[in-house]
Amino acid sequence: MKILIVEDETRLVDVLRQGLKEHGFTVEQAGNGSEGLEAILSGSYDAVVLDVMLPERDGFDVLKQIRKAGNIVPVLMLTARSGVDDRVRGLDLGADDYLPKPFEFKELLARLRAITRRPAVEPQDLLRVADLEMDPRRHEVRRAGKLVDLSAREFALLEYLLRRKGLVLTRAMILDHVWASTYDYDGGSNLVEVYVNFLRKKVDAGHPVKLIHTVRGSGYVLREQA
Ligand code: CA
Repeated sequence: MKILIVEDETRLVDVLRQGLKEHGFTVEQAGNGSEGLEAILSGSYDAVVLDVMLPERDGFDVLKQIRKAGNIVPVLMLTARSGVDDRVRGLDLGADDYLPKPFEFKELLARLRAITRRPAVEPQDLLRVADLEMDPRRHEVRRAGKLVDLSAREFALLEYLLRRKGLVLTRAMILDHVWASTYDYDGGSNLVEVYVNFLRKKVDAGHPVKLIHTVRGSGYVLREQA
């Protein structure tokens, strides 16, 4: 589970980083709003801890921009102010939860666990592009109405592509999410290619419209247009 902390208070970040590491999280930090925004839009975090008071761009603005870009990463906002207006504003802009400062680490941990458990897309919602449909709850995939039989790894890969449809995903990002960095980059890069090809055979082969596209030098994207 990879967490991005967007916060400029170094001491707080150090405490959080240490605690989260002890609980098995991988932690990265961005020290201002612009850096945070850029990191989040690269799309490779399972959750973001986002402070409101930040240099360059405040947390509200970062949140607004990422949701506008269609990014659905779970966000826990930290606010120094306990004013109801700030909380409402954060939730309105698409935060998943908020935590007023000061807080206890175990509280942050509990909330982080809650928002990462909560699927970004409601489970009853189908994930869909063109005539390809995935029902994450029933673990079923259909292309043109016909069931497609996938291995667990293929399913995880397709789910990742579907949840970020239209976005170019690098091999490193795919590896990180679908294989949780079990493999080093060189070995893993090839692994991604192999599995994308498995998926193509099951999802695209025999259909006039291909959905899985290679973006030369970058990675892969799932979309209707070539
Ligand atoms: Ca701050």
